[in-house]
Amino acid sequence: MPKYVYLFEEGNKDMRDLLGGKGAGLAEMTRLGLPVPPGFTITTKACNFYAKNERFPPGLEKQMREALAAVEGKAGKKLGDPANPLLVSVRSGAKFSMPGMMDTVLNIGLNDETVGTLAALTNDERFAWDAYRRLMQMYGRIVMRIDGAKFDAILEAWKGKTEGGKDTDLTTDMLKAVVLDYRALYKGETGKDFPQKPYDQLRQAVVAVFGSWMGKRAVDYRTFHGIPHDLGTAANVQAMVFGNMGGDSGTGVAFTRDPATGAKGLYGEYLAEAQGEDVVAGIRTPLKIAALKERLPEMYRQLDAVAAQLEAHYRDMQDMEFTVERGRFWMLQTRTGKRTAQAAVRVAVDMVREGLIEKGEAILRIEPAQVIELLMPRFRHEDKERAAKAGRMLGRGVNASPGAAAGVAVLDSDLAETLGARRFRVVEATDPLAAVRDTVDAAKRDLKDATHLDWIDRIVPEAFVIRTDKGRWVEVGQLTENLRTGEHEGPVELRLKVLLTRTETSPEDVHGMLHAKGILTGRGGATAHASVVARGLGIPCVVGCEALRVNYEDATFTLGGAPFAQGDFVSIDGATGEVFGDLIPAMEADFEKETELRTILDWCDELAAPFRVWANADYPRDARRARTFGARGIGLCRTEHMFFETERLPIVHEMILSAVASRTKEDAQARARYLAALGKLEVFQKSDFADIFRAMAELPVVIRLIDPPLHEFLPKYEDLLVELTELRLKGGDPKVIAEREEMLRAVEATREANPMLGLRGCRLGIMYPEITEMQVRAIFEAAVAVKREGVDVHPEIMIPLVGHVNELRNQREALEAVAKAVMQEQGLAVDYKFGTMIEVPRAALTADEIAKHSEFFSFGTNDLTQMTFGYSRDDAEGKFLMKYVQDGILPYNPFQTLDGIPSESRGEPRGVAKLIAIAVDLGRKARPDLKVGICGEHGGDPASIAYCHSRKLNYVSCSPFRVPVARLAAAHAALRTQATARDK
Ligand code: PEP
Ligand code: MG
Repeated sequence: MPKYVYLFEEGNKDMRDLLGGKGAGLAEMTRLGLPVPPGFTITTKACNFYAKNERFPPGLEKQMREALAAVEGKAGKKLGDPANPLLVSVRSGAKFSMPGMMDTVLNIGLNDETVGTLAALTNDERFAWDAYRRLMQMYGRIVMRIDGAKFDAILEAWKGKTEGGKDTDLTTDMLKAVVLDYRALYKGETGKDFPQKPYDQLRQAVVAVFGSWMGKRAVDYRTFHGIPHDLGTAANVQAMVFGNMGGDSGTGVAFTRDPATGAKGLYGEYLAEAQGEDVVAGIRTPLKIAALKERLPEMYRQLDAVAAQLEAHYRDMQDMEFTVERGRFWMLQTRTGKRTAQAAVRVAVDMVREGLIEKGEAILRIEPAQVIELLMPRFRHEDKERAAKAGRMLGRGVNASPGAAAGVAVLDSDLAETLGARRFRVVEATDPLAAVRDTVDAAKRDLKDATHLDWIDRIVPEAFVIRTDKGRWVEVGQLTENLRTGEHEGPVELRLKVLLTRTETSPEDVHGMLHAKGILTGRGGATAHASVVARGLGIPCVVGCEALRVNYEDATFTLGGAPFAQGDFVSIDGATGEVFGDLIPAMEADFEKETELRTILDWCDELAAPFRVWANADYPRDARRARTFGARGIGLCRTEHMFFETERLPIVHEMILSAVASRTKEDAQARARYLAALGKLEVFQKSDFADIFRAMAELPVVIRLIDPPLHEFLPKYEDLLVELTELRLKGGDPKVIAEREEMLRAVEATREANPMLGLRGCRLGIMYPEITEMQVRAIFEAAVAVKREGVDVHPEIMIPLVGHVNELRNQREALEAVAKAVMQEQGLAVDYKFGTMIEVPRAALTADEIAKHSEFFSFGTNDLTQMTFGYSRDDAEGKFLMKYVQDGILPYNPFQTLDGIPSESRGEPRGVAKLIAIAVDLGRKARPDLKVGICGEHGGDPASIAYCHSRKLNYVSCSPFRVPVARLAAAHAALRTQATARDK
């Protein structure tokens, strides 16, 4: 017969599958000789049998009775013995903690008879009747499913008759009366009397615990957290100890370290004269554990010793529950403590230093999501407290996606898009504050005309908040810092910070969500549309904030009853679910100050080597940031971004206009203008490249030659047409008209029906070789110059969007000749490579031919995904992709995580992942030392990084801010690979 019941001394910590987390913890503490009240655990197997058959498995009751007898022997009391009754608790405990479904029934064993014995034995009649009413209340609610509010109402009515109004003010006679009322309630609700047989109480409590496993609440929780439904819960039956037996009794919870900061030392709370549920219910204010040291030094000493022993034993931070009964200390639970991201990192580093764990284990204990959380904007604790004290914390909802967001509430998704997408340019920033002010003033006028909004005086750009009501500036972001220090390069863009505030969201809102800094809804849970989309987009989000009531008719809303209108400030903390009707400055994270995180990431690099994390960086500033974040190279420098800078754009226009003119007809003058414009651009590019080489000294820098179609640099066709029509109608300056006409001709000449599939990438270099030749000259002149300064430079020239090997051959031959010529002219050679992006499916399929002419491959997975699926990367997410994910048509957003990466259930890569596998294999066959990386957005996604690691890529390259996450993800991938290899 299977064993369904384990005495605590028969189990251990590794039996979580069978005994649940709580049972395994109690067993392990018993084995360690810690003071644990005797008891036994009924296994998850028994629960699963019950879930299927709605009855106990054969043999379970016999085993329960035997185990009970053993516990009775140890306790020296018997369940239901009128002379010396044993009381027990029944608690559920699954393998993974499931807060909110922990069903507990205490004081089992009390009846009309034993309540009197308990009173006599403890010499405390009041205590005994209080225990009895607690049993009836919990049993009625949990076992018989009677509405708990009905019990509360009776208790409240009696408390109302006392002077103090607290439960501790109830007299013995009042408690007896409460029991009578409860008895009547029980009978009225169930038609039966409250059970007087203690064993029946016990049996029914176990049935209730098992039944709760398939309850809706529990099922929903598991579905959301991906916990399998067939694990089952265990039920723990344990002798009662009482924390409410006078002044030398009490109960508490404690962590071995501070779960918020990770600081070493006991952290928790203690409540004298109370039972466990009183602490949770927040009835009285408990004492901080630290205060115990003075008040109850002996108890503190015991707790401290047990905590130290448990932490050393489990080699992780513990979360413990204990009770003191008449001066005697008892342990009731220990488990791994939940912690904030900050604490997780600190505890992991400290434990390595204390010799408790190895570096690899420390790394595996940090989740990529926790690194993201540490690098997301945060509210300062003081700022939140201040807002709360001022009564501005007006609601709380589900913490659906982490990060802090503050902005203007916008109730309509079209408006959120209009406002959120708008960019305001600050061009001149010698006096940054004045420049921002001017720009925002202009924007205000502009927006007022455009949208007739009357609240536009409250603008929240990327870095500044303008409150005209008090005439005061409130700084909120990173950009401020850049502007202040003058560290910014080129024009700065400001954007409105929009907080999309709605009752709920649907696929029709995605376009607005894309442009929001945060999302707040009044309805829904962690799997609601808003939650799924926000997490997918990495936007802070709070849902199900019941204090929010939106009135779309007049664009107003209330938060906790207070009136608000569209355009008012709202702040949300997506990590905690707090909602404020105020603007709280969100602090950008400061990586340099995250000492422990940086330590962990250094360990990650050691472990993941030779696999590396590089960064995508277009400007010297980005390159410096990337290095700070620990990038070991630049995997993608998109050179065209340098063309967009304001002082360069007119030159770029001149270059394109004359290039187009010289192409359409033999025009020597146009050609001269074209070459002159290129000459000017070369100067800029050379100085940018030189700065990047300096920033990345000794590390490789992959520079991609111009990629986007030329018309992207020109004004929009429709805008030009309107402008010209107006000029003509108003009789504008003929010279200006002629200029705009020439521009219009160039736009017409370069316009395409499908620009993403048009004249871009290497095709552009083939049609306009002068542009890419200029870029290569600039790169090599910069490289030679910087090398002369004594810096070790490693440029790698990347030719984009190759589909056929001949495209690459053509470009490489022309460009390498330029490179050699420059080095010869300058009399100095630099170490360089030529390579290509693999972002067209055909290139992946013919990678062997391509590798013959390419020293490296870099997967441009943005384009590769776009072209493999045939989804426009600029439109899909706003138009249909989110619905696809919501409805399960696609398992996830393939622009975020590589499509088709193998899972445990399906070992072979498919789709985009398969193309990558094919290209790596073909490429390395043709050129064994081929260097391979990835530089699409997927380079910062943990699951995609693991796949790249498994295909033995040399590096992943991602945006500088993602580099820390990628370093951790790379180490996780390496550690898991090692573990799998060991298992084999
Ligand atoms: C890519 O396509 O993945 C890529 C990195 O290039 P871009 O995003 O500039 O097209
Ligand atoms: Mg691309």
